[in-house]
Amino acid sequence: MKLNIAIDGPSGAGKSTISDILAERLEYVHLDTGAMYRSVAYTATQKGLQMDEEDKIVKMIEEEMDLKMNSDGTIICNGEDISNKIRTNEMSMAASNVSKLKGVRTALVAMQQKIASEGGYIVDGRDICEVVLPNAEVKIFLTASAEDRARRRLAQNQEKGISGTYEEILEDIKKRDYQDSHRENSPLRQTEDAVAIDSSNMSIVEVVDEIMKLVAEKQK
Ligand code: C5P
Repeated sequence: MKLNIAIDGPSGAGKSTISDILAERLEYVHLDTGAMYRSVAYTATQKGLQMDEEDKIVKMIEEEMDLKMNSDGTIICNGEDISNKIRTNEMSMAASNVSKLKGVRTALVAMQQKIASEGGYIVDGRDICEVVLPNAEVKIFLTASAEDRARRRLAQNQEKGISGTYEEILEDIKKRDYQDSHRENSPLRQTEDAVAIDSSNMSIVEVVDEIMKLVAEKQK
C-alpha cells in the first residue's frame, strides 16, 4: 500500500535530503513544496513584481507559470532550468515573503493536493501536516538547531556553487524561522499528531531509518 508521508520543519533541517533518500528507498515521489514557493518568487521577481502584489502574483501563477518539477530534482519554469537560481539567499527570503500571501498559498496548496492525491508521495514543507495533507499516514516534524542547519546549508551551497558566508546563512535562517512561524496564514508549527525528530545529533541515515520504522508500522 502506498502511503503519503508529510514532513514539516524549519529551513535547513534536512527535509529535502531525507525526502530524496526516502523516495528512493520506498520508490515514492518527493514533492518539494518549498521549491514551488521559490519558483513563484523567482518568476515574480523576473517580471518586476513586488512580493506583496498578491493579485498580480496569483494571476501569474494561474496564467503565466508552466512549472515542471522533475523526478531528478530539476525545476523547469516556462522552459528555463531554474533549479539553482531559486536556491540563493535572496530567493529564500523572497519565497518566505511571497508565501505569506493567502492567495498564493491557496493556489499552491491546491496543486500540491492534486499531485499527491494518489498516494506514494513524500511531501516536505511548512504546512503539510496541517493543511496540505491532514490525512497523511505518516507525519514528521523535523528540527535541528539553527547553527547546525546553517552549517549544513553552507556545505550544500558550496557544493552547488552558491555564494554566502556562514554568518549570512545563519542570519537568514533565523529571520526566516521567525517569519515562517509568526505569519498569519499557515504558520510553521508542529501538529499534535506529528512525530518530532531533532536531527541535530543524528546522521541522515539515522533519521531516514527512524522514518522508515514509522512507515513500516503503518504498512502492517
Ligand atoms: O523549504 P524551503 O526553504 O525551500 O522553503 C522556502 C520558503 O517557502 C520557506 O521559508 C517558507 O516561507 C515557504 N514555504 C511555505 N510552505 C511550504 C514550503 C515552503 O510557506 N509548504
